[in-house]
Amino acid sequence: MLQAARSAGKSESLDRLLTDYPRGPHDQPQSMCPAFGALRIGLRMRRTATILSGSACCVYGLTFTSHFYGAKRSVGYVPFNSETLVRGQLYEDIRNAVYEIAKPADYDTVVVINLCVPTASGVPLDRLPKVIDGVRIIGIDVPGFGVPTHAEAKDVLSGAMLRYARLEAESGPVSRPRAVAGLPTVTPIGELFPLDPVGIGALLAPMGLAVGPQVPSREWRDLYGALDCAVAAAVHPFYTASIREMRAAGRQVVGSGPVGVDGTAAWLDAIGAATGISADTAKARALPAIRAALDANPIRARITVSGYEGSELLVARLLTEAGATVPYVGTACPKTEWSEPDRAWLESRGTHVQYRASLEQDIAAMTDAMPDLAVGTTPLVQKAKALGIPSLYFTNMVSARPLFGSAGAGALAAIVAAQTKGRERFARMVSFFGSAGAGESAGYGWTDIPKDPPGSKDRYRKAREAKAKATQAVGT
Ligand code: SF4
Repeated sequence: MLQAARSAGKSESLDRLLTDYPRGPHDQPQSMCPAFGALRIGLRMRRTATILSGSACCVYGLTFTSHFYGAKRSVGYVPFNSETLVRGQLYEDIRNAVYEIAKPADYDTVVVINLCVPTASGVPLDRLPKVIDGVRIIGIDVPGFGVPTHAEAKDVLSGAMLRYARLEAESGPVSRPRAVAGLPTVTPIGELFPLDPVGIGALLAPMGLAVGPQVPSREWRDLYGALDCAVAAAVHPFYTASIREMRAAGRQVVGSGPVGVDGTAAWLDAIGAATGISADTAKARALPAIRAALDANPIRARITVSGYEGSELLVARLLTEAGATVPYVGTACPKTEWSEPDRAWLESRGTHVQYRASLEQDIAAMTDAMPDLAVGTTPLVQKAKALGIPSLYFTNMVSARPLFGSAGAGALAAIVAAQTKGRERFARMVSFFGSAGAGESAGYGWTDIPKDPPGSKDRYRKAREAKAKATQAVGT
């Protein structure tokens, strides 16, 4: 598909994706369809229509997942068949759909996302009009063979929107963001638990700074507010395209995040250095409270952490500061300069940090470390349970509780304690079930490897040979 896309004129788009999101040990995503990340960002934004262009099976899966995660609006779809794809009619159909839906009374923006097949076929979304009756049109390619994780696909759309908004702001007056802080702001980059921006705001208040609108934004005009910051904070370190736009707007960008005592101190210092404001008062106010929260909620466990959200290193830092031993942290996201302080901090404490970790690496690290708790992705958690290791889905751990400041310091201990208690119960389950349902005996009624009917292999081989001969005969 990569070759097909290149010969269909998509080289520029693919080169940009491959530069922004370098590949890891495998060239295919190991988690959900990457386009889900971009789709989710579009669906969460007010007055934004999101249209998919792709195979019906992909769109079915993406629509299902979106609504499973509580999308509040419809997913648009322009269907195609072999003929409309090959004849270029699909592009015309998308164009017509965009004209039909781009009504200023309903929408600020229409986003069109090319999935694998239309990208490989070269459907030229960049030729769509940039604006129709004041409604912005944004077309992006998010193929599974060009974007390694759904996390990075969030950046594909966020970066495209920031770019559009930046060019608008550079060429004339734009709408005022809904909430204007009245103070210089810090723009957090990354999807955060709703309490976290509030906590970050409290940390910044003694410096005379406030939290600005986040990227990914919830409304178009918030993009202007996000760009109009004193400094951007790449809390999730994989937003390469968005950070490029921030820099193009002349903004400094700070990496890592305010986790634990060390992390918060270093992060406040970095914000202070970027803005020229002393962080001493902010640190004096925040750090004792974080220390107290960590001391009141100690974690005594050996924990491995793996995930694809981008915040794995921050979570590992917080667990370590709370007293846990973290021998391994794997993230499906790539190494960037924005997580560099976290990598250095973790490695100096003996943690192995694996960027672009594959599922195989995560599983190998877990079976090697045999932790008290394995925090990870669904297949890793499944493997851990089969081994009798207590485990927890990373997304559930981070999506339901704060991570930053003193609120974050107190939040993880309870869930870790609750989960690690299960070890004895898991061990009993493993010994009770033994090897039942494992390997070839999985499924009802199987006890060993099913046998082929006698002679079947021979019959199929002969049939294949006869078919091959017949095909050759047609060619002669
Ligand atoms: S084929 Fe491509 S678009 Fe379809 S589900 Fe897979 S990665 Fe997503």
